[in-house]
Amino acid sequence: MIYYKTDEEVSLIRESCILVSKTLAEVGSYVQPGISTQRLDEIAETFIRDHGATPAFKGYRNFPASLCISVNEEVVHGIPSNNKILKDGDVVSVDCGTVLNGFVGDSAYTFAVGEISDEVKNLLRITQECLVLGVEKAKYGNRIGDISFAVQDHAEKNGYGVVRELVGHGVGKKLHEDPEVPNFGRRGTGPKLLPGLVIAIEPMINMGKKNVSEASDGWTIYTQDFKPSAHFEHTVVVLKDRTEILTTFKFIEEKLKMVSVI
Ligand code: MG
Ligand code: MG
Repeated sequence: MIYYKTDEEVSLIRESCILVSKTLAEVGSYVQPGISTQRLDEIAETFIRDHGATPAFKGYRNFPASLCISVNEEVVHGIPSNNKILKDGDVVSVDCGTVLNGFVGDSAYTFAVGEISDEVKNLLRITQECLVLGVEKAKYGNRIGDISFAVQDHAEKNGYGVVRELVGHGVGKKLHEDPEVPNFGRRGTGPKLLPGLVIAIEPMINMGKKNVSEASDGWTIYTQDFKPSAHFEHTVVVLKDRTEILTTFKFIEEKLKMVSVI
């Protein structure tokens, strides 16, 4: 069942979303060759707790960490580890959830480690564009399928694979609420977008084929062809007269002195 949020609840979610956005920027400022993904996780957890919040992922279905950190061919749900050291040319998806005032904020960003190839840069750019196009369709009166189609269409036009097994979702007191927000689908299908709907839109786009597998750790999802994958996520709220992106990449862009795609 979809739970539509009141204005007050949206305000609380907004605060959590700002914190999760700042956490990603903090983590991003440490992304460089030689750092372990475990260290990035510690930085995130400290930052989140210092701001009076708790990491939404830690303990969720027994997930052991505050971040999902997925490198190169890993798509999502990578477990941080001391043995996983970032190296020049990697891409690293950092997915973070916070709980502040009882409400979740959820966002993800894929960072380049050092210098990456033009091919991989293009994957990151197109995936971020998929997110922008999906968000543009997330408006009152549209349907979930309009978002799904926009994401899939842009990815596939660029020759990329769209992951089917994992999807976006409603966000609220719980990390994963109804409805599901797939990154593939048909226009004009699925639940109608009504005011108060808060959803996480999160394209997971593979440079190669769409097929993925789950690692023996029971969490990490990786591409079957071992080509890289990218993942960007925003939490947004549909309102009567507009849609607001509650999370933001501006802190990342400011901290890393990058030019915004959006
Ligand atoms: Mg997420
Ligand atoms: Mg999510």
